[in-house]
Formats: sequence, C-alpha cells, structure tokens
Amino acid sequence: MHSVFDARRFLIPFRSSLLPQIFTDTLVIGGGVAGLRAALAAAQHGEVIVLAKGDFKHTNTAWAQGGVATVLDPQDTIESHVQDTLVAGADACDESIVRLVVEQGPRRIEEMFGWGMRVDRDQGGKVLLGREGGHAAHRIIHAGGDATGAEVQRVLLERVKQTAGIRVFANCFALDLITPNDSEGSPVMGAITHHPKFGLQMIWARSTILAAGGSGVLFRETTNPPQATADGLAMAYRAGALLADMAYMQFHPTTLYLAGASRSLITEAIRGAGAYLLDEAKNRFMIGVHPMAELAPRDIVSQAIVRQLARQGGGKVYLDCRHIEGINERFLGFAELLKKFDLNAQTDLIPIHPAAHYMVGGVKTDASARTNVPGLLAAGEVASTGLHGANRLASNSLLEGLVFGAIAGEAAADGWNGSRSLPRPGPVSIVSDIRPSDRGELDLTDVRSSLRSAMWKNVGIERTGAKLQGVAEMIDFWGRYTLDKIFDEPFGWETQNMLLVGAVMARAALWREESRGCHLRLDFPQRRPEFAKQDVWGKGKR
Ligand SMILES: Cc1cc2nc3c(=O)[nH]c(=O)nc-3n(C[C@H](O)[C@H](O)[C@H](O)COP(=O)(O)OP(=O)(O)OC[C@H]3O[C@@H](n4cnc5c(N)ncnc54)[C@H](O)[C@@H]3O)c2cc1C
Repeated sequence: MHSVFDARRFLIPFRSSLLPQIFTDTLVIGGGVAGLRAALAAAQHGEVIVLAKGDFKHTNTAWAQGGVATVLDPQDTIESHVQDTLVAGADACDESIVRLVVEQGPRRIEEMFGWGMRVDRDQGGKVLLGREGGHAAHRIIHAGGDATGAEVQRVLLERVKQTAGIRVFANCFALDLITPNDSEGSPVMGAITHHPKFGLQMIWARSTILAAGGSGVLFRETTNPPQATADGLAMAYRAGALLADMAYMQFHPTTLYLAGASRSLITEAIRGAGAYLLDEAKNRFMIGVHPMAELAPRDIVSQAIVRQLARQGGGKVYLDCRHIEGINERFLGFAELLKKFDLNAQTDLIPIHPAAHYMVGGVKTDASARTNVPGLLAAGEVASTGLHGANRLASNSLLEGLVFGAIAGEAAADGWNGSRSLPRPGPVSIVSDIRPSDRGELDLTDVRSSLRSAMWKNVGIERTGAKLQGVAEMIDFWGRYTLDKIFDEPFGWETQNMLLVGAVMARAALWREESRGCHLRLDFPQRRPEFAKQDVWGKGKR
C-alpha cells in the first residue's frame, strides 16, 4: 500500500454532542444512478436517507448521453459483452466482477422498463439497440436519442420519492464519514453534513453507502458537471478506506471547445454516423493513425488530437459533419447545443478538444460493494470494483451503477441482518479539535484553478515521470498551506478534497511506469507485466 501526505482526519473542528442528530438505518451519499438504485434496495430492509450536495438533477448520471450497454438482442451473448469489457480493460479487469455485472445487467434494465423508463424503440415497439466503439454487438439502449442519463435519473428519482421509508435531502453536503476513533478497523457510523439552512448535522446510520460520483473537475478540461470534485474519494481516504487504480482517468476526445460552452461532450455516435476530424488546414488527420480512423478507441483519438495540436503549435481541430445528411434531425441535443453558440453542424465546422471524462479508479470494493472499512460500502463512479480494469468500455458505467447500486443496497442490511427490530446503536461522542492555521488568508479560487491547470498539463492525456514528479511536489506544497485551513462552505471543502485526490492521482500515475488502457506514459510506452496489478492507496499505519 502507498500513502500520500498525512491527511487530517476531519475537514472541520466539531463536537458531535453539540450538533443536531439524525438517525437512519442506511445513509446513501450521492443521488445519481448508483445512489438512487442503492436507496431503493436498502429501503427493503429499513429506513434510508439519500443525500446530494446540489439538487438531484445535476449529476454525471443526468448528463450521460450515449446509453446503457446490456445484452438484450438474441444475436448477442453475455460472453461477447464480457470479452469486449475485458479487452477494453487492457488485462486489468477482475473477470469475476465483469461476469457478475454483465450477467445481472439485463435483469436490472428490465426492472427499469417496469418502473417506466422510456427508451427508443422501433415502430413495432422493439427496443432499438445501438453499437458503440469497442462493442462487438448492438447492445446500447438509448432514450430520447442522446438523453439516456436524464431518463435514468428521472425514473429512479420518481421511484425513490414514491418509496416509503426513503428521505431525500437535497443541498446537503457530506463533509466527512464519521468513525468513533482514528484507529484501523474503526467502523463508519454515518456522516457529518452541512445544509445551507440547517447548518452542520450528524447523520448516524448502521450502514453508509458512498455513491458520490466522479472527479473530472480536478482537470481544467472536463465533461463532468461542477459537482464532480472527488469528495467521496477524499472522505473515504480520510476515514481509512483504500483507493485503487488511481492513475486511470479516461479522457473523452470530443467536447465542444468554445468559450462559455463548459466543454459539453459531443457523443461518439456522431463519429459513428460518419463525422471527420480535421486539423487546422482542414485535413483529416486520423487517417494513418489507426485503421479505424475517426472510429479508433477513445484514447487513441484523444492522444492523436493532443499530438496534432502540438504539431500545429496550438490552434484548432474540428469535427466535420457537413456531409452527413439530416445530422441536426438525428442528433437533436447536439443541434440544440450548437444553436446556443450560433453554429449549425450541417454548415459549420465544430471546434473540439479532449477532456477528462470518467474516473476509472476509486474506493476499492469487493463483489458485495464492501470497502475495507466496516460499515462503509461504495458503488458507482466513486468505487473501484474491478469492472473497468485500466479503461472503461463505453456505456458500461450506467450499467455498473444499476448493478452495484442494487448490490450495495442489499449488502448494507447484512451487517445488522436487515432486522428492523434491532435497536440502532446510539451515537458516540466524537470530538475533532483542529486548531485554526496561523498562515493567513488564501485565494481559494486561485488554488483551485492552479490545481486544475496543473492536473491537465501534467496528469493529462500524455504523462512523463519528470512532469508527474514535479506536479506531485507542487500539490504537496499547495497542500501544506491549504489543507491546514478551516473553511466554512463547500467551495473550500471541495478544494481541499481535490488537492488530496490530485496528490494521490499524480503519485499513482508516477508509480505506474508503463502505458496501459487510458494511462499513457511517454517515457514507458509499453504495457509491462509487472504492473498488471492494482495499486492501492491509503492513509498508512494510523
Ligand atoms: C457528459 C457525460 C456523458 C456520459 N455518458 C455516459 C453514457 O452514455 N453511458 C454511460 O454508461 N456512462 C456515461 N457517463 C458516465 C456516467 O454518467 C457516470 O459514470 C455515472 O452516471 C456515475 O453515476 P454515480 O451515481 O456514480 O455518480 P453521479 O451520477 O455523478 O452522482 C453523484 C452524486 O453524489 C453527490 N455528491 C457528490 N459529492 C457529495 C458530497 N460531498 N455530499 C453530498 N453529495 C455529494 C452529487 O450531488 C450527486 O448526487 C457520462 C458522463 C458524463 C459526464
């Protein structure tokens, strides 16, 4: 196990006995696909609180465009989906987990249909199954063309709201998981949270499921919504949970690159429909890079774009859809997005750029979604189950959220045998007595934007040992005078979380002296068998 700088146990000072106390059986931190699905499963066994730091609409889940991969076509097989996932994972997947997710997928999707998920169907009512890069068969379910995630979010949220025993807390920021003390094996008993109206609160739970999503915001360029600040990874680390495979951040090749466009993702399906990538001189630069040209795997395309930009000394690369008949009618969300910027895909070239997209690594879990810390489970993008290995196959993450959300919700009740009659353990007294730093004021916005730029430049698509070493030292330095401060609102807490997780990512990428999946080291361009294993990060001996 590896460690980074000694993280403080809690972000803020508090005395648990002086704060309002809330009790539940299962606390779910995160209201995306994984958290909502977990809440539904846990509600079969007791009371549940599910919380989100913003409203329940702004999640990575709601932004997902491509779809959900699962085997529904009689021509397709479970084995084929398993093999495609293993290939994408670059010899680093846990095959038993891949089988578990792929096998349980169809059941979870049928369940979603039963709960009212409206997916794209042909005139005869048959589900239309798309095909994406890396998939050998048609197995991608879409809703509203490119609005699949929003439909998943809608269906699960409605179901959660209709389910007795689930309380939903919006705008409720989880600062830290609570454990009675800081020794190894100390169980998680809930979380300390902050709500703009109710202030700090202690939420005590028999089991806690972390489903706090991804980390894209650590990078200057990202497809993720602003909530994806790695809070879940940071609070798990502080509570003693192990993080695994932290070098693996997947980059998406095509986001809209315009001032004010928030790096909106342009779905792969548009390249699937025949769009070209053009350099500044309007030539197709993917020809000769890969036999599949623009349809090469995501990482190859992202890397080629970065190299092309370097070759032409900056400037722009474009997506060209002008030759695709009916492009605006086929991709309504895309057409709407462009319209906001006075662009039309039928007549204009679209400036694009790669961006950080999906955090493959995460809190290490087993097949029951359990972490190494008693009472703490994790599911969704925050978790590292072993499904994705060194790279995620397109559309496998919503599937993972549904499957592992359900597993985590079921497993949450195991610890107390799902018995509603057992009395809940009473709260213990927890005192966090951090002294305020005497190092003075800080421009937090500057710290955050410096970190995001440094991560993009040095822990981005192309990495080298020298750059990684430099950025790891730089983050340690920023950490020294930022992590000892006490903040009283989410922007500060998020920035502290981002610094901690950035430090782990940079070190994990430095340690992995090979290129595998989405991790490209220019100084170690080959896959090396001695690195065909998970690297695990934790607080070390406490
Ligand atoms: C633009 C885009 C397109 C994508 N397209 C696809 C696709 O087509 N198919 C696919 O399979 N995957 C896709 N993905 C990836 C997929 O959407 C995510 O991996 C998945 O939705 C993650 O779900 P989740 O439940 O783990 O997290 P999220 O959906 O991100 O939910 C995280 C939740 O945690 C909450 N949270 C975070 N921190 C805190 C805190 N401190 N306190 C309280 N709450 C907190 C958030 O408020 C949120 O409710 C896409 C991602 C993006 C960004």
